[in-house]
Amino acid sequence: MLYVGLTLVFLVGLGGGFLWGRQNNRFALQDPLTHLPNKPAFNQRLESLLGNNGSSPEPLAILFLDIDHFKQINDLHGHLAGDEVLRQLGNLLATTGEPHNVFRWGGDEFTILRFGSKKSVEQYAVTIQQAIKKLAISRQSPEIVITVSIGVAQQAQDEAGSHLLKRADQALYEAKRNGRNQIYWSASITN
Ligand code: GH3
Ligand code: MG
Repeated sequence: MLYVGLTLVFLVGLGGGFLWGRQNNRFALQDPLTHLPNKPAFNQRLESLLGNNGSSPEPLAILFLDIDHFKQINDLHGHLAGDEVLRQLGNLLATTGEPHNVFRWGGDEFTILRFGSKKSVEQYAVTIQQAIKKLAISRQSPEIVITVSIGVAQQAQDEAGSHLLKRADQALYEAKRNGRNQIYWSASITN
């Protein structure tokens, strides 16, 4: 009887530890503010999608988004209102696309992974931009309106994920440099 009891305690402990470990792993890959997958989750997903790229007939694109003048929003409306902007933008991005392919990269930056032709990715980026235009963050009055800059890079044949990401980041930089509130495509592979 004692033996059965000890075995039961051991098994329950083992199961609990296993569940706790899984839960911990989930939190390690989730941004606590927006509840979106985070940067490590992005890196994992990018590698896994590129590993399976042969199974997709269309190339993978990375969209790199950054809120324009977000520091001013924090300064004008306070950090909590800034947090609300990040939450609502994250929610909008997740509901406009495939939630498991939308990530909070960090700070006011988000990344999205999207398969498709250049035209379909372009349409998707425009849809996001228009939805953001209509997103009036109503935590307080007056409502906060935001714009974003978006850098986009589409995978060239055999291009490494890290290189694709670098190009999307460079395209975002160009979108900012050209005046913000715009979508900028990485034209070609640059080193
Ligand atoms: P730009 O148009 O060049 O992007 O200007 P910006 O003011 O948005 O500059 P930048 O993207 O460098 O600033 C990001 C700011 O985001 C800086 C930081 O204070 C703020 N921030 C980062 N994480 C959080 C957060 O979790 N909550 C809030 N409220 N603010 C954050
Ligand atoms: Mg910004």
